[in-house]
Amino acid sequence: MSSKDEWDYFRNGPSTWVTKFPMAAGSRQSPVNIETKRAESDHEALSSKPLRWKYPSTASRKLINPGYCWQVDTDAEGTFLSGGPLMDDVYKLEQYHCHWGCSDSRGSEHTVDGQAFAGELHLVHWNTSKYKTFAEAAKASDGLAVLGVFLKVGKTHEEMDKIARLLPYVSHKYEVVEITEPIDPGKLLPVRGGRAGTQRCVNPCMRWADRIIPRHENKWDFQDDNGYWTYLGSLTTPPCNESVTWILFKKYIEVSHHQLNIFRNLRKFPRGEECPCHENHGVVMNNFRPPMPLGNRVLRECGSF
Ligand SMILES: [Zn+2]
Repeated sequence: MSSKDEWDYFRNGPSTWVTKFPMAAGSRQSPVNIETKRAESDHEALSSKPLRWKYPSTASRKLINPGYCWQVDTDAEGTFLSGGPLMDDVYKLEQYHCHWGCSDSRGSEHTVDGQAFAGELHLVHWNTSKYKTFAEAAKASDGLAVLGVFLKVGKTHEEMDKIARLLPYVSHKYEVVEITEPIDPGKLLPVRGGRAGTQRCVNPCMRWADRIIPRHENKWDFQDDNGYWTYLGSLTTPPCNESVTWILFKKYIEVSHHQLNIFRNLRKFPRGEECPCHENHGVVMNNFRPPMPLGNRVLRECGSF
């Protein structure tokens, strides 16, 4: 990376990005603070096309440390995201990655009524119905879709543990490991109650509609069925393209304090290179951009009363 494109979360942090990446000053930037009272309920429109997704475990190809997070690059083949705010367009998974903080009380990019979570998982998709490549889609206003999932400290997350176990092998910037043990991106999403095998293709709005069925007659755990918020925004890292339809699940997933500590041990310098300033001992933490103004944008929600 040339110095002209350099950015980070410290000296070249979010407040400086705009000098090198003018799009960071746009009016459609992410993340935002979700003011839950401001969200417009839009069950009818959003649930007319159920949000659906499918992620084969074979899609996860390699785990990389770009120096500012961990990221899993995927093989888009066989992956699928459609419905909800995306309507009939088919989006495929390009990669997924994570943001976290130096302590368990911060780390998410989006906040909910001003409250941060310990982390935030992002599954980044591109619109294959309209564009030929990820790069082309990343320049278009409807080119990308990101599923965001909040991380809260709790019990060990089994699927996340597969990633955590590999992280020591990508502990330094630019290190990469091929993924051999299947990691199912779908299993990183909030686990919902109910029948086995339904997890990869769940429609919170449909489930919301299912509430008319008396609770004792079905196996769904309605407590887990909280739906999502959606709005039009941007990539949260430079160049901050304003090309993202955000879908943020209201239901968080639990990861353990230990798992987060493994994330916090990733190094942002190549092996053998010393951190010049000993700042944070050269590890990746607080890799989140603070909330940007929502402005006139509409925040819609699906799946709650
Ligand atoms: Zn992200």
